[in-house]
Amino acid sequence: MRPLIFAANWKMHLGPEGARRFLHSFLERHEALPDRETWFFPSAVALETVARLTGDRPAIRTGAQNVYWEPKGAFTGELSVGMAREAGAQAGLVGHSERRHVFGETDQETGRKVRALLESDLTPMLCVGEKIEQREAGETLGVVQRQLSALDGLGRDALAQIVIAYEPVWAIGTGKTATPEDAAEVHAAIRDWFTERGVSPETTRVLYGGSVKPDNIHALISQPEIDGVLVGGASLDPASWSEIVRVTLD
Ligand code: PEP
Repeated sequence: MRPLIFAANWKMHLGPEGARRFLHSFLERHEALPDRETWFFPSAVALETVARLTGDRPAIRTGAQNVYWEPKGAFTGELSVGMAREAGAQAGLVGHSERRHVFGETDQETGRKVRALLESDLTPMLCVGEKIEQREAGETLGVVQRQLSALDGLGRDALAQIVIAYEPVWAIGTGKTATPEDAAEVHAAIRDWFTERGVSPETTRVLYGGSVKPDNIHALISQPEIDGVLVGGASLDPASWSEIVRVTLD
């Protein structure tokens, strides 16, 4: 069975010292469970700290929140995949809704970032999801499929490496959550998209993100279509993050 993934997106919070304090508190109460992995996406400056402090725990992985596809050069402010890897990253988040809607990242750009990560053997976690007006217009599946088309042209083996996080934009940081059934419907459509391209449904990993909290994690993770969660706000507090990652499955 593929392990469940509990991924923390720390956004623009916690520098190296904040990350160190967080991990001191979190690791003290953390017990690795065989059916799951915990992933951290810290700020770029805290990547090395998180990778170093969790390096002896195989079920904890570290990833970059964003990367640029060029390996080096005159790209002020950007982080190459090689640099992220050197700092200890094993994965990279791509196409988070804040990247798409605050910084104008396009599907074409997300496609290039995914390819750059794959070329360096880092796991891409591609975020997809609709805005509220798109959901109300019945366009959710169309939007998600358009965002997945950034992966067009990749072969089955490459596609099998990619983790998808379905994050409805209207649920991120708002306290609103998709119902577990609504999320499961989109997850099933995403899994079908991969199956049609030759990836076994058992291999495809689709996470849910959007206002996941200790009090709704159980209902979400109990959906067989949901292979884990990507969490912003509730991953910043060691106590609530511990509660989320040790949720009991039925
Ligand atoms: C996110 O940033 O990916 C996210 C899902 O945030 P939150 O959990 O705060 O809604």
